[in-house]
Amino acid sequence: MKKYPYSCSRCGMYCLMERCPVIMNLFNIKKKGKCSKLYFIGDKANCSLWDMVDEDKREEMKEVFGIGDGCCIKARVYKNGIEYNFAALSSEMKIRAVQQVRENKIGVINHESFNEEE
Ligand code: SF4
Ligand code: SF4
Repeated sequence: MKKYPYSCSRCGMYCLMERCPVIMNLFNIKKKGKCSKLYFIGDKANCSLWDMVDEDKREEMKEVFGIGDGCCIKARVYKNGIEYNFAALSSEMKIRAVQQVRENKIGVINHESFNEEE
Protein backbone atom coordinates (compact mmCIF):
# COMPACT_ATOMS: atom_id res chain seq x y z
CA MET A 1 0.00 0.00 0.00
CA LYS A 2 1.21 3.49 -0.78
CA LYS A 3 2.37 5.57 2.13
CA TYR A 4 0.61 8.65 0.81
CA PRO A 5 -2.69 8.61 -1.04
CA TYR A 6 -1.94 11.22 -3.71
CA SER A 7 0.52 10.56 -6.46
CA CYS A 8 3.77 12.46 -6.82
CA SER A 9 4.13 14.61 -9.91
CA ARG A 10 7.77 15.44 -9.13
CA CYS A 11 6.80 19.08 -9.03
CA GLY A 12 9.45 19.87 -6.38
CA MET A 13 7.32 21.96 -4.03
CA TYR A 14 8.30 19.95 -0.96
CA CYS A 15 12.00 20.56 -1.43
CA LEU A 16 11.52 24.21 -2.40
CA MET A 17 9.96 24.85 0.99
CA GLU A 18 11.84 22.62 3.40
CA ARG A 19 14.63 20.15 3.68
CA CYS A 20 13.73 16.55 4.30
CA PRO A 21 14.70 14.87 7.60
CA VAL A 22 17.43 12.83 5.91
CA ILE A 23 19.43 15.80 4.67
CA MET A 24 18.75 17.73 7.86
CA ASN A 25 20.35 14.96 9.85
CA LEU A 26 23.18 14.37 7.41
CA PHE A 27 24.34 17.98 7.33
CA ASN A 28 22.81 19.28 10.55
CA ILE A 29 20.85 21.94 8.69
CA LYS A 30 17.56 23.63 9.43
CA LYS A 31 14.21 22.56 8.11
CA LYS A 32 13.00 25.80 6.51
CA GLY A 33 14.24 26.87 3.12
CA LYS A 34 15.01 25.48 -0.29
CA CYS A 35 17.14 22.37 -0.36
CA SER A 36 20.47 22.80 -2.15
CA LYS A 37 20.15 19.24 -3.49
CA LEU A 38 17.01 20.06 -5.47
CA TYR A 39 17.48 20.55 -9.19
CA PHE A 40 15.14 20.60 -12.12
CA ILE A 41 15.28 19.06 -15.54
CA GLY A 42 12.57 20.99 -17.28
CA ASP A 43 9.70 20.88 -14.84
CA LYS A 44 10.77 17.61 -13.22
CA ALA A 45 12.30 17.86 -9.78
CA ASN A 46 15.35 15.77 -9.01
CA CYS A 47 17.44 15.19 -5.92
CA SER A 48 21.20 15.12 -6.18
CA LEU A 49 21.40 13.45 -2.78
CA TRP A 50 19.34 10.55 -4.14
CA ASP A 51 21.62 10.45 -7.19
CA MET A 52 24.77 10.07 -5.13
CA VAL A 53 23.79 7.85 -2.19
CA ASP A 54 23.87 4.10 -1.92
CA GLU A 55 20.89 1.77 -1.69
CA ASP A 56 20.81 1.87 2.13
CA LYS A 57 20.42 5.63 2.20
CA ARG A 58 17.77 5.45 -0.50
CA GLU A 59 15.89 2.95 1.63
CA GLU A 60 16.13 5.38 4.52
CA MET A 61 14.69 8.17 2.34
CA LYS A 62 11.84 5.89 1.35
CA GLU A 63 11.18 4.92 4.92
CA VAL A 64 11.47 8.34 6.51
CA PHE A 65 9.40 10.38 4.11
CA GLY A 66 8.25 8.00 1.43
CA ILE A 67 10.25 9.38 -1.48
CA GLY A 68 8.71 7.98 -4.63
CA ASP A 69 5.67 6.78 -2.73
CA GLY A 70 3.16 9.55 -3.27
CA CYS A 71 2.92 13.21 -2.35
CA CYS A 72 4.05 13.76 1.24
CA ILE A 73 3.69 17.55 1.42
CA LYS A 74 1.23 19.00 3.87
CA ALA A 75 0.24 22.40 2.58
CA ARG A 76 -2.86 24.38 1.80
CA VAL A 77 -3.40 26.63 -1.18
CA TYR A 78 -6.16 29.13 -1.77
CA LYS A 79 -7.87 30.15 -4.95
CA ASN A 80 -10.88 32.45 -5.08
CA GLY A 81 -11.29 32.03 -1.36
CA ILE A 82 -11.46 28.25 -1.56
CA GLU A 83 -8.94 26.15 0.34
CA TYR A 84 -7.30 23.19 -1.37
CA ASN A 85 -4.99 20.50 -0.13
CA PHE A 86 -1.85 20.86 -2.25
CA ALA A 87 -1.15 17.12 -2.27
CA ALA A 88 -4.56 16.46 -3.80
CA LEU A 89 -4.12 18.85 -6.74
CA SER A 90 -3.60 17.48 -10.22
CA SER A 91 -0.04 17.04 -11.49
CA GLU A 92 -0.57 19.92 -13.91
CA MET A 93 -1.68 22.25 -11.13
CA LYS A 94 1.22 21.33 -8.88
CA ILE A 95 3.73 21.84 -11.66
CA ARG A 96 2.15 25.17 -12.59
CA ALA A 97 2.27 26.33 -8.98
CA VAL A 98 5.96 25.45 -8.74
CA GLN A 99 6.69 27.23 -12.01
CA GLN A 100 5.11 30.34 -10.54
CA VAL A 101 7.08 30.07 -7.31
CA ARG A 102 10.29 29.59 -9.28
CA GLU A 103 9.48 32.62 -11.42
CA ASN A 104 8.65 34.62 -8.28
CA LYS A 105 5.13 35.19 -9.53
CA ILE A 106 3.60 33.88 -6.35
CA GLY A 107 4.97 33.66 -2.86
CA VAL A 108 5.10 30.64 -0.70
CA ILE A 109 1.70 29.15 -0.27
CA ASN A 110 0.22 28.65 3.14
CA HIS A 111 2.53 25.95 4.18
CA GLU A 112 2.22 24.00 7.39
CA SER A 113 4.85 21.36 7.21
CA PHE A 114 5.35 18.03 5.64
CA ASN A 115 3.13 15.14 6.45
CA GLU A 116 4.67 13.20 9.20
CA GLU A 117 3.08 9.83 9.46
CA GLU A 118 -0.38 10.39 10.84
S1 SF4 B 1 5.39 18.25 -3.45
FE1 SF4 B 1 4.39 16.27 -3.61
S2 SF4 B 1 4.03 15.97 -5.82
FE2 SF4 B 1 5.54 17.59 -5.59
S3 SF4 B 1 7.53 16.50 -5.74
FE3 SF4 B 1 7.02 16.72 -3.59
S4 SF4 B 1 6.03 14.82 -3.05
FE4 SF4 B 1 5.97 14.97 -5.27
S1 SF4 C 1 17.73 15.93 -0.08
FE1 SF4 C 1 16.47 15.56 -1.86
S2 SF4 C 1 14.51 14.83 -1.06
FE2 SF4 C 1 15.63 15.79 0.62
S3 SF4 C 1 14.88 17.90 0.64
FE3 SF4 C 1 16.74 17.85 -0.61
S4 SF4 C 1 16.06 17.60 -2.72
FE4 SF4 C 1 14.36 17.04 -1.35
